[in-house]
Amino acid sequence: MEAKYDVIVVGAGISGLLAALTLSKHGKRVMVLEKGRGVGGNCNSYMVDGFQVDTGPHAITHLAVGPLKRLMDNYFDYVPVFEDHGYYYVRTEHSFVKLPSNLKEFMAFDVLSKKDMLVLAPAITKVLTLSTFGVDFSKQSVYETLPHTLSKDAHDFVNTISYFLSGKSMKEMSIHRILTGSNFIRDSVTQEQFENIVGKSEDPQKTESILRSILPSNLHASLYARLSSSFAPAVPLKIVSRPLTYISRLATNRVTDPQGYPRKGLKSLLNAVLHSLPTTAKIRTECEVKRILVEDGRVVGVEADEIYYSDMVIYTGFAKDLPSVINDLPETYTDDLNRIARTKSLTIWLGLDRRLSEFNYIGSEVWFKDNPYWAMPISNYDSSLAPKDKQLVGFAFVINEKKPEKSETKKAYETIYCAIPNISEHIVMQHEQITIPEKAAVTINGKFADIRTPIKNLYLAGTDTDSRSMGITRAAHSIVELLGILNEDGNLHQ
Ligand SMILES: Cc1cc2nc3c(=O)[nH]c(=O)nc-3n(C[C@H](O)[C@H](O)[C@H](O)COP(=O)(O)OP(=O)(O)OC[C@H]3O[C@@H](n4cnc5c(N)ncnc54)[C@H](O)[C@@H]3O)c2cc1C
Repeated sequence: MEAKYDVIVVGAGISGLLAALTLSKHGKRVMVLEKGRGVGGNCNSYMVDGFQVDTGPHAITHLAVGPLKRLMDNYFDYVPVFEDHGYYYVRTEHSFVKLPSNLKEFMAFDVLSKKDMLVLAPAITKVLTLSTFGVDFSKQSVYETLPHTLSKDAHDFVNTISYFLSGKSMKEMSIHRILTGSNFIRDSVTQEQFENIVGKSEDPQKTESILRSILPSNLHASLYARLSSSFAPAVPLKIVSRPLTYISRLATNRVTDPQGYPRKGLKSLLNAVLHSLPTTAKIRTECEVKRILVEDGRVVGVEADEIYYSDMVIYTGFAKDLPSVINDLPETYTDDLNRIARTKSLTIWLGLDRRLSEFNYIGSEVWFKDNPYWAMPISNYDSSLAPKDKQLVGFAFVINEKKPEKSETKKAYETIYCAIPNISEHIVMQHEQITIPEKAAVTINGKFADIRTPIKNLYLAGTDTDSRSMGITRAAHSIVELLGILNEDGNLHQ
């Protein structure tokens, strides 16, 4: 049977869509099959009672020199505007202070006791110095590096940071992860490196956009309204489009690389990918891939609502679930995939009847006592995400998979009411999301899947194929790696 598509991409989350975008711009005919009703996976936004919530609060990292920047530069027809993430704060019952970003600020950080700070400061300096001289901290846990004279509060604090950087505790998370996650180590892919990886310096094809066919269901209302009045396909959208160099205007919170929140919400990033997708890429939703078809050790297509033939398949669902859609994988390979660890998160979005003074800041906050959260008042970046004069805040918790979701949710609400006692009087919208933020959590002994699989021309991509960075940046790393591997295998430039 003749292959109708050069590539089939399983899954239309940000990884699958970035794979589809890059490959179609390299001239491939791509079919994306998504089991859900819509596209975007964990990278999306939608309306709840007049508020536009994202699928979890998001700060997108390494925007100046990271892998997403490389993909945006080389393949996007326009890029979203990123608002500076702002500062990270720590909230306790008695205080609300900036999270220190250097040692001087650290010494003035009065959330922890002076004694704790005096013990922690030299420990941090030592790790940073050794890391600068190339000492590898990827197998050393945060816990074993901490001085044991620290108080419980200090341990809770470091544990909270570990959970929000990796989804796992400080006993399971490496020092290296803290250094990269807190931007002490730069996570960059230069244009020169990128060109070496992809193997061709010429520009990807200029193509006609797929946008028109997906407009009604995938753009948020305000962007759609602006488009409908002056719609011209394949023309960059001026209102949301800026040259990427604009990112350099972001204040950097004294970290080595800026972080941002996409103006108009997370969906703006999704829309930029969708807008840039050429018409040679097709997307089918509500189309679950039930089987990946293999003949003589090489992939020949997939079975979904019908059989789709292709000599190349890129699977972006959970690598751990791969054995459920493919027969005869070697047992050792399946065992390895089974060792991938992951974490469940709960996000509670609260729509507030007015802007509360407690959230009068740009950035995000951490609560580290008992049941930690990471919260972001996203309507402070863009007031259009909430009805006029109202406020929208997302609180993200790591939850215990072994406990009932109902009790974890109840406990999370109790934490929010304890942290911000008057908030309950102001809630006009509440909405909960339970998701797996990344398909693999970074732990000291945690497993990640290889992009190549034992089946020829079946590749994996997504956040369980690359341990660098986190979330969307990690998804972008995996796509840059995928392009490199396809290039090495002679599957990119044909
Ligand atoms: C609470 C929360 C907070 C977050 N915070 C941040 C942050 O601050 N910064 C950041 O960068 N990232 C953050 N993230 C993570 C980021 O959103 C995700 O890592 C990223 O969107 C994952 O993209 P993906 O494409 O790899 O996976 P997914 O979004 O999971 O997409 C996979 C897609 O494949 C589809 N699929 C699976 N199996 C099949 C099949 N058999 N057939 C057809 N379709 C299939 C699924 O339906 C899904 O749409 C956060 C996520 C959450 C939930």
